[in-house]
Amino acid sequence: MTGETTGSQRFLAATFAVLLLSTAATATVSASTTAGPATLEYRSIVIFRTDDVQPWYRADALDAVNGVFAAEDVPVTHAVIPTIDGKPVTASGDFCSRLRAMQAENSNIEWALHGYDHGAKTAFYGRSEFGGLPADRQREMVAEGHRTLTDCVGPTKTFVPQFNTHDHNTTRALRESGYTVVSANRWFDRTYYGEGEPFVADGVVHVPSSEPFVANWTTNRLRDPAALHASFESAYDDGELYVQMLHYPTFSDERKVEQLRSFVQFVKAHDGVKFTTLGEFAQAYRSGRLLKTSDGWLYREQGHGAFPRPLVASESSWWVRDLRANGLRGEAADADELEPTESDDE
Ligand SMILES: [Zn+2]
Repeated sequence: MTGETTGSQRFLAATFAVLLLSTAATATVSASTTAGPATLEYRSIVIFRTDDVQPWYRADALDAVNGVFAAEDVPVTHAVIPTIDGKPVTASGDFCSRLRAMQAENSNIEWALHGYDHGAKTAFYGRSEFGGLPADRQREMVAEGHRTLTDCVGPTKTFVPQFNTHDHNTTRALRESGYTVVSANRWFDRTYYGEGEPFVADGVVHVPSSEPFVANWTTNRLRDPAALHASFESAYDDGELYVQMLHYPTFSDERKVEQLRSFVQFVKAHDGVKFTTLGEFAQAYRSGRLLKTSDGWLYREQGHGAFPRPLVASESSWWVRDLRANGLRGEAADADELEPTESDDE
């Protein structure tokens, strides 16, 4: 810790180091041997989001789905409905202790708040639980749901709206309750915000889901494995984020659970795939530890600091490609020379 240097001095030092190394790079490819934080390069980032986690309903299916992710050692974001039939889920006997036992089985679990009571309350963008309601009511619903989930499994900063719809008052209410991530879907984000990829708006990171696992919501028939494989392959080929939406109650028999396991294994068999949760993706994205390149992603684990500031400028792709081509892989400056854009320690 160098107490005398200011943030702007560190920034200038980092900028100078990047420019210096960029200039020297063609002649000194071994520059990457200088000590620096580990930077990992990925083709695709994959997030599994399980909606509708609730008590009193197909508990065996929830155990089976969680068991797949635990056995495969793959992170998963479970979105919990905080209120069922007017009662907080903390009133349901052993539900919260069962969720905590699931977390003991799979430490890669992230809990998310899934709306309030899963009711369709307005016709906003088709159906919505929040969108179109008065701001005060939305604030109450978010605050109450947040209290319940905190009592049940601990606090979260990730919100998954029921029906994948919400409005600007929802995100304001979320921010007031400390939420930093909201995950709707691509169709809604494109229509309402004009963005289909992760973006920051209303003070939170939006990470839309890209794919459902169910083909028919009346019969709960799952999509054909070949169609799901093609969806993932397309994202992988384009170096994109892939967010798979799941609903645990639809995995109602062993054959369906096997289809999920088989899909997870199919994705795992690809080189250069990073599995993460919604929360970790958003934090890395916002704090500058995760960068989109022209054909994939550069990522640093928590505690390894942000990429140099010139890399996170608006033309970041150009910088990233240029540095990678020269073998520098973003190691032009040490993490402790950088002024972080956001604390990693929250
Ligand atoms: Zn739902």
